[in-house]
Amino acid sequence: MGEIKKIVCRSCGAEWECMTGCGMLHGRLEWVADLYEEDIRKEIRSLLGERQFVPFTFAYQLSYCKSCGNIGSVPVLRLEEDGREYTGSCRQCGQKTELVEAIEKTPCPMCHATVLEMEETGHWD
Ligand SMILES: [Zn+2]
Ligand SMILES: [Zn+2]
Repeated sequence: MGEIKKIVCRSCGAEWECMTGCGMLHGRLEWVADLYEEDIRKEIRSLLGERQFVPFTFAYQLSYCKSCGNIGSVPVLRLEEDGREYTGSCRQCGQKTELVEAIEKTPCPMCHATVLEMEETGHWD
């Protein structure tokens, strides 16, 4: 089950709601593949064509987009065998995003103050 996180800026009051973790549908690699753009989807599918079982971990993680300033969540898939990682792009502008390591060190995209806080508001699956 995944968690819904609310990110709030204590300086300007901006708010974002983000889904993190993973849901029931993400237990199979072919379903996870559908979350990505065509070229990545093809790569994952071809891997599945070669092998019976591909070990992986998957979760939505908080991300920060430098291009449009959006805070959101992106799908992060890691293949256990070779450590390859696939990170989804910004849902708002389609650019590459950076994963948020620590929200308290991430500047607010609206006012640039480093006073973001995170609350857990619920669950999804
Ligand atoms: Zn702010
Ligand atoms: Zn963006």
